[in-house]
Amino acid sequence: MNQNWHGALTRRLLLLVGACLLLGLITGQTAWALVIGLAGYLAWNLSQLLRLHKWLREHQPDEPPPDGYGLWGEVFDSIYNLQRRNEKARGRLQAVIDRVQESTAALRDAVIMLDRDGNLEWWNRAAETLLGLQTPQDSGQPISNLVRDPRFKEYFEREHYLEPLDLPSPVNSRVHLQIQITQYGNNEHLMLVRDVTRLHQLEQMRKDFVANVSHELRTPLTVISGYLETLLDNVEALSPRWLRALQQMQQQGARMQALLNDLLLLAKLEATDYPTDNQPVAVDLLLLTINNDAQALSGERRHRISLEADQDLKLKGSEAELRSAFSNLVFNAVKYSPGGGEINIRWWGDEQGAHLAVRDNGPGIEAKHLPRLTERFYRVDASRASNTGGTGLGLAIVKHVLLRHRGRLDISSSLGKGSTFTCHFPTAQVVRRTK
Ligand code: ADP
Repeated sequence: MNQNWHGALTRRLLLLVGACLLLGLITGQTAWALVIGLAGYLAWNLSQLLRLHKWLREHQPDEPPPDGYGLWGEVFDSIYNLQRRNEKARGRLQAVIDRVQESTAALRDAVIMLDRDGNLEWWNRAAETLLGLQTPQDSGQPISNLVRDPRFKEYFEREHYLEPLDLPSPVNSRVHLQIQITQYGNNEHLMLVRDVTRLHQLEQMRKDFVANVSHELRTPLTVISGYLETLLDNVEALSPRWLRALQQMQQQGARMQALLNDLLLLAKLEATDYPTDNQPVAVDLLLLTINNDAQALSGERRHRISLEADQDLKLKGSEAELRSAFSNLVFNAVKYSPGGGEINIRWWGDEQGAHLAVRDNGPGIEAKHLPRLTERFYRVDASRASNTGGTGLGLAIVKHVLLRHRGRLDISSSLGKGSTFTCHFPTAQVVRRTK
């Protein structure tokens, strides 16, 4: 096509020049004839260009282009076809956008689109009821101005959103929301918000039930244990047949008491998100006492327990909670590794934060158990656990305490080679003493 037009144009130009030369020969004014001929051609081209310009600027959507002659006609038609194709494509895209907007508007979950800085770009109707966003006033506002809970701000700024965040609604504190953010495109955010009030209520009922049952069982158990103790204090008056039975009853009673204590502690940990206490805790001193208790627990089994702790590194939080988490890890190492085993406790800091590692060279744990280890009552080997007198709640307590201190638990272990339980705490929780 291009080639054709190239030839035709050349021919047309040659024809024009030939005609001008002929006219020049006849009139004896060759130069003038050429100038007039070429100027006429240029003027015609310019007038076509002006017509095109006028049509492009002023035409109505469906108005066809003016008739053009030769190459100009083809240029007009090509532009017109291109425009119509674009309009059709735009219409199709708009229909898709309309359908997506209609369906998301009908959703009961809130859908909110935020730009890379967290400013509101678009949201559906549910976002107005769940979060109280107002159309169109809030458009372009930062989301953190509208959802003011500090936990949301922290969650939003963290920029990795693997876990959803649960919050009371800013509009109605009895409504509980679950917020999940996904990043897409050019670091923009898609925020999904679900009403989880019902789930939250059920969860609360479960927690209350466990806490109440544990609490109610405590009193009768204390009475039974008290009588057993009195009976065992008068061993001479007992028939030897009963002695062993009573001793076992006392043992199981103590186990039940430990279970109830752990259940109540877990219920207490679950009741709030953060510890009420947030003082810097001297972890090195805490570990020293845990180390002594561990030596006592080991007793005749004579584990070799070593402790390395950075004395300048303190951790913000509740001393009682941290004590129960760390002692659970160290006592587990004593309980589960054979006599004479080596146990190393290490507390150190680096640019990522502070870390506590408890390493043992005990039997280790098979990889398939690791992800489930922090579940309540999960035991690798039920028969072995009953010998150790564990409640099965130790690591669940550790996990909860760490969550409340913004930390996380890392477990690495291989069968026959021992296990390492490491707690990682972010720098925000660490206080370093400067010398
Ligand atoms: P328990 O009260 O039974 O010790 P935990 O929640 O503390 O409950 O631990 C869960 C399970 O993890 C234990 O039953 C045990 O099988 C395993 N476990 C924990 N720590 C160790 C360890 N240091 N070495 C080997 N197994 C361990």
